[in-house]
Amino acid sequence: MSILIRNGTVITENDNRDILHANILVDGNDIKYVGRGEPDHDQEIDATNRIILPGFINTHAHVGMSGFKGLLDDMVLSEFLDKTSKLDSQRTEEGIYNSSLLGMNEMINSGITSFVDLYYSEDVIEKAVEKTGIRGFLAWATLDKEFTTQEGDPVKNAERFIRKKHTDTVTPMVGIQGIYVSSDENYYRVKEVSEKYTVMVHTHLSETRKEVYDFVKTHNERPVEHLGSIGFLSDKLLAAHCVWITLNEIKLLAKHNVSVSWNGISNAKLASGGIVPVPELLSNGVNISLGTDSSGSNNSLNMFEEMKYSAISINNDRWSADTVKSQQILDMATRNAGMALKSPLGIIKEGYLADLIILDLNKYNTIPYNDSNVVNNIVFSANSGNVDIVIVNGKVIKSKNSIHEDESAYLNINYL
Ligand SMILES: [Zn+2]
Repeated sequence: MSILIRNGTVITENDNRDILHANILVDGNDIKYVGRGEPDHDQEIDATNRIILPGFINTHAHVGMSGFKGLLDDMVLSEFLDKTSKLDSQRTEEGIYNSSLLGMNEMINSGITSFVDLYYSEDVIEKAVEKTGIRGFLAWATLDKEFTTQEGDPVKNAERFIRKKHTDTVTPMVGIQGIYVSSDENYYRVKEVSEKYTVMVHTHLSETRKEVYDFVKTHNERPVEHLGSIGFLSDKLLAAHCVWITLNEIKLLAKHNVSVSWNGISNAKLASGGIVPVPELLSNGVNISLGTDSSGSNNSLNMFEEMKYSAISINNDRWSADTVKSQQILDMATRNAGMALKSPLGIIKEGYLADLIILDLNKYNTIPYNDSNVVNNIVFSANSGNVDIVIVNGKVIKSKNSIHEDESAYLNINYL
């Protein structure tokens, strides 16, 4: 099935950051054509006076926790992790599935077409991915057995999940919770799994000062240095947070082509007291994307909020309003994430996957706009209400009002 998206303003996010007034042909899962021509097609979407963007990619989430909204507020990370672990020990598959549907629908509503998830029970989360039509990069979380509520061996569980047959829109990954619950042995085993099945690795890294200081006390080395010395750093690693890292650690991340997922709102809400050293990471060539983290620590799975907060927080922190420009922030929400995941995502061009969003900026909050300020308005002024249509893997999964129909069904169901 092919769809011609006609007459839109296309923010391509290609290498030149071209903004084109063009038609897009989606055929099957892919973008087949971008230009002024009108190739043959089965269906049409009229995008006159609409903006077309690559769908946003959320590079750090725990969607299975979306039903925990409002239960984990006003606490720092150590307390947050204790309480989360208690909640986790009581969870049912039904609760995880319902939470995942809730979170995925929230993401789709705000134009997120792909997300990276770190949790156990990714097989349950996969069912929700299939149901909603979003694209999931699902990393089964591993950690040392004495710290987990998972049954059996977490690495074997992860391996079993990776080996399963997956649908088109699911890419399995292997995850690690973090250095505070993972021994070197776990890191070695995860690396082995990643190499054996050629899958990416996702982890929390240097999120809080306490976690880093505790680690230095016992290991006499900082976490990123340690992961470097045990051979764990590689271009297959996507590391969430990296708030408390030194220049030497930044150079190590750069040397090994590790990508960083910046979760600004979550870090600030958990009162981490610091901010990711974005300018230093960028000047050393580290690829940065954006993540929301979970509904427990954000509490919104919303890329518009993430983009705006990220931009203003780093600029305020460095006393300079162009430390990171809005174009760079949009890159982090789209093309940089595609690069981090080594997937043809985050750019509108022939051969890339057809994950697209169509925005209506003809609204109070985004008028006036034109080609020269549209990126600024998307980063600083737009919100979920501007998202008209969401296309994932060539299929329309949200058009106006289609998601909201059964929102009330989510009110009184089991999220535990
Ligand atoms: Zn997290």
